[in-house]
Amino acid sequence: MAQPRQLRHDAPVSATPPSSAPLIDRYQRHVSYLRLSVTDRCDLRCTYCMPERMTFLPKAEVLTLDELYQMSLGFMARGIRKIRLTGGEPLVRRDMIDLVRSLGRHIGEELDELTMTTNGMQLAAYAQDLASAGIRRINVSLDTLDRDRFAKLARRDGLPQVLEGIAAAKAAGLAVKLNTVALKGVNEDEIGALMRWAHGEGHEMTLIEVMPLGEVDGDRTDHYLPLTAVQDGLSAQFSLTPNGHRTGGPARYFDVAETGGRLGMITPLTNNFCDGCNRVRVTATGQLYPCLGGSERVDIRAALRSDDPDTQLEQALNEAMRIKPERHHFRIDEAGEEPAQPRHMSMTGG
Ligand code: SAM
Ligand code: SF4
Repeated sequence: MAQPRQLRHDAPVSATPPSSAPLIDRYQRHVSYLRLSVTDRCDLRCTYCMPERMTFLPKAEVLTLDELYQMSLGFMARGIRKIRLTGGEPLVRRDMIDLVRSLGRHIGEELDELTMTTNGMQLAAYAQDLASAGIRRINVSLDTLDRDRFAKLARRDGLPQVLEGIAAAKAAGLAVKLNTVALKGVNEDEIGALMRWAHGEGHEMTLIEVMPLGEVDGDRTDHYLPLTAVQDGLSAQFSLTPNGHRTGGPARYFDVAETGGRLGMITPLTNNFCDGCNRVRVTATGQLYPCLGGSERVDIRAALRSDDPDTQLEQALNEAMRIKPERHHFRIDEAGEEPAQPRHMSMTGG
């Protein structure tokens, strides 16, 4: 059997010891959560996320596994305590599990938690490895339980594979949270049933409003469904009680009496959640976006590939704190208008 690859733990280093100053922005928000996109590639083509003929990045532009690891060490030195690996689809990147193992060694030390957001397609093969590396919770995206609908929405006939992946994650002891994008005229009639199924299986579920990120085939406005409407619809069938649970993120949570489960709602367009923002995102090419809904960015790859990566990385992180905007400026794109941000969610990660 092939030996797992060791990522370099000791290089590259400069004469300057890395700063351990916490990441605090101009609005006194303490950043402790990194969302790291490890690839822009994917084995699905969800219609709201990317066009069928998506142009992917040349490999040379994408950070190597060593660079991803070195960068993560730099973030941890500055007080990042939670890392979520995402994409694109993180599990389509070859050797991804080596990075998970290397980062997993920091859980309980610098890291409180290492997690992943996946579409579930490759999960059956990797669930046990993820659990063994120290991952305890994962998010799996699932918008429908109807096979034909899934095939239309993801442009691939993948539902049985995803369900197999979710079952494997559960069997490996991973807590699974389902992420569901609420889409008018696509899955709005199914959200109650999907939630009942998720809670019955012991999974949490979080609903997401579609966001105007990147060009897709067709118009997202047609399918934008405000979660206020979903909540009204669900309230006719279920008793939803607001729950004070906060994660520092945009979700609001409800307890559902009939299922005994928890439902999250992420409402970037109908509710502002920026006051307590504790996160930054890095794309697969090493561009740090301090806000998912803004165009401000810092080039971490240039820092990592410079002659003095430690100092440059430190300066880049300081710059990110200086430019992190007070709040996002999302609004659903008017029909025919450009999306609010030209980059796709698969670039910045979900
Ligand atoms: N491929 C993985 C997956 O699908 O879970 C990880 C990356 S994906 C970009 C992360 C999350 O973003 C998914 O839950 C997906 O449904 C969501 N997403 C993608 N494009 C979106 C958009 N334009 N608006 C809202 N959510 C989006
Ligand atoms: Fe791929 Fe995730 Fe985007 Fe779907 S949402 S196309 S699975 S990156």
